[in-house]
Amino acid sequence: MTDSGVLVLNRHWQPIHVTSVRRAFSLLYVGAARAIGPDYSLFDFDSWASLAVVEHERRVIRTVSRVIQIPYVIMLQLYDRIPRAQVRFSRLHIYARDGNRCQYCGVQADRSQLNLDHVIPRSRGGRTTWENVVCCCVPCNLRKAARTPQEAGMRLIRQPVRPRWTPVFRPRGALPEQWLPFLSTTSASYWDTEQVEELEDP
Ligand SMILES: [Zn+2]
Repeated sequence: MTDSGVLVLNRHWQPIHVTSVRRAFSLLYVGAARAIGPDYSLFDFDSWASLAVVEHERRVIRTVSRVIQIPYVIMLQLYDRIPRAQVRFSRLHIYARDGNRCQYCGVQADRSQLNLDHVIPRSRGGRTTWENVVCCCVPCNLRKAARTPQEAGMRLIRQPVRPRWTPVFRPRGALPEQWLPFLSTTSASYWDTEQVEELEDP
């Protein structure tokens, strides 16, 4: 059928992930998503399925009674259907949330000069969560050690929270040209979610 999957957008036309053809069709079929046509118009399942298939189009599925094009891009109908955990909890995303800025002294630094700090140390039951992990420069990290900010006489410049934004999703490898209008080229490698280093939680 097809090698690449189907790009999934949220209702704000932002790419969120790539799904399988089967999943894309089931979303379309139940009305949870609409297919996006070449002119960016939106189709529900019936209107999409009744489109004439272009002669040379090889991205099709065949049912008993008809041939249906496989959309390159679909849009979810309900924003709420997107899990809130769209922003993966990762080292990269903590740095991004905190603007590569130490959350104690405020210094902005290259990522190689930054660490992650558990505000409440793990040894005190501090959890590895958005609310308890901040970007921290190496000197502050050493100074704070396994103490609470209060014990170390240090203050957070901002209370850490789960970010509300959705990172720009950028799949890897050769991409269908039909996806390109929807993929931001801004900082593409920066946001390459495939390369995000997962935050270890020993
Ligand atoms: Zn610092």
